[in-house]
This record gives sequence, C-alpha cells and structure tokens, in this order.
Amino acid sequence: MKTGIVTNDTCLNHDTGHGHPERADRVSVIVENLKKIKNKNLVWKKSKKFDPKYLEITHNINYIKKVKKSFPKKGLFFLDGDTIISPGSKEASSDAVGSIITAIDGVQNKEFQNAFCAVRPPGHHAEKNKAMGFCIYNNVAVGAHYLLEKYKLNKIAIIDFDVHHGNGTQDIFYNNEKVLYISTHQYPYYPGTGGNNEKGKHNNVLNIPLPAGTTSEEYLNAYEHVLKKLKQFNPEFILFSAGFDAHKDDPLAQLQLTSKDFYHLTKRTLNLAKLYCEGKVVSILEGGYDLNALKESTTMHVDALLEFSK
Ligand SMILES: [Zn+2]
Repeated sequence: MKTGIVTNDTCLNHDTGHGHPERADRVSVIVENLKKIKNKNLVWKKSKKFDPKYLEITHNINYIKKVKKSFPKKGLFFLDGDTIISPGSKEASSDAVGSIITAIDGVQNKEFQNAFCAVRPPGHHAEKNKAMGFCIYNNVAVGAHYLLEKYKLNKIAIIDFDVHHGNGTQDIFYNNEKVLYISTHQYPYYPGTGGNNEKGKHNNVLNIPLPAGTTSEEYLNAYEHVLKKLKQFNPEFILFSAGFDAHKDDPLAQLQLTSKDFYHLTKRTLNLAKLYCEGKVVSILEGGYDLNALKESTTMHVDALLEFSK
C-alpha cells in the first residue's frame, strides 16, 4: 500500500495580501520538501471536482451563495477581519475541499493506505454560517460528511492538533453522534472556544486545552487522552486536522513542540488506526506559519504515514 499526497497549484493563487501569515509559500515549501522524499510508495494526486451537495451538507446554502458572490474580480475582499479572499481564492477554496474528497476516495478504493492533503485555505475555524480565522470552507468537515453520506460510514473521528481550537468543526458536529471531534490546543487563546466543559451533545467532543508554554513531554502525555477517547469510540475512519502551529518556532502561538513530536503523535494515532479502522487515515493541512518548522513538521508527519503504508 501507499501514501497519497494531494495538492494543487491553484492554492498558490489564493492571495491573502502582503504580510499575511497564511500565505502561498506555506504550501510551496511543503510540496518542494516532500518531493525530495524518494519513496516509490508516495503517490501524488490533484483534487478532482466534487458534487456540491457535500459542501451544502456542511455549510448553510445562503452562506455558500454569499461566499461565491464575494470572490472579487480583482483586488482583495475581507470575509472577516483576517479572512481575505482574492480572484484566485474561488478555485483554491473549492480545490481544498476537493482534495479531501480525492484523498478519501483513494483510501476507500485502496489506491493508497492513507493520505495527506497539502492545500490552503485551511478550514477548521469555518462554521456552518461563518468564515473565520483564514478559513472559508471547513474542508475536514466536508470530508467527514462525505464519509457518512457516500460511504455510509457511521463513526468518523476527527483529531485536530492545530494549536488553535477548531471552533468551526466543533460547531458543525456538536450534535452529531456519528462524528467524534477531539482537539488539543493552546487555551485560553484564539478563537476563545475549546474549554473542557464543551463535550458535544452525545459526549462526542473532547477538548484538551493546554496552557502557553506546554512542552513536548507535557503535550505527548496529554495526547494519551486523545488515544484513550479514540479507543472508546472505535472509529471506522480517522481524519486529521493537521495544523503545525503548536511548534515552538511558530510566530502565532506559544506551545513548545519540536518537529519530531509530529512524527510521534502521528505514529501513536496510526498504531490505533491499524487496530480499529484498517489504518484508514486522511490528513489535511490547517495552520503552521514558520516556514522552516512547517517544512520539517510536515515531513515528519508524512514519514509516519509512509511507515504505516507498508
Ligand atoms: Zn492554527
């Protein structure tokens, strides 16, 4: 079996304006570096077109219409204070959603064992009715709905290790017992949600808030709670909201992880995925704003995925 990497040049045309941390270089450095991995088990794919109904299950139709009308013909447009779109954002945001659908199909059709989507814009802050925090469509949420609807699965786990709480993903699945949402994040911090009293209507949300300054050892100890919850839930498929901004060098937050920690957390999760869901895992890029840290950390993450694709 193999590991899929899904990416698109279109995501480079999502222009967020000068000096914005969520910039095209993020994906360029990741892709450039992954291309250096000489491993015949790495399969490169582009996003395919998808049925818009999966986007419409995730977001309110009026929100989707509003976003579509907002893409400017030229210049930039602000969906919220820090979520900026340009003419190229239309295709980029659609292909970001398409990437997770392409990756899921690849895993379900046994083209590869697992996959990583190196795309932008990210998605986990986007709520059913709201763009937020650099996110337009909630890519990982569309992926989970796609697994439920197209493949008729009943138990999807989303693990969000981005340093920020994925308020959007939590919002979308708060009342949905078929989807377990687990997040580790700096707290209190942007976006303000993610306290451990937010548990989901069916106890299907686990928030693991961590103070600024949390070290590798403390983080990996806390991650044991993620694994424990995952075992209890017994998922049929695991999705990663893979943000790498918990890295110690990241300019937007204050956790202290090293690049290698992303290898460890991925490997520990995949050990369970192998036992519980035949190793079916799809990961999609969220945050990560120090280019060097992002390059190293994504390579560690993909190294672990490749180990399990043997
Ligand atoms: Zn983040």
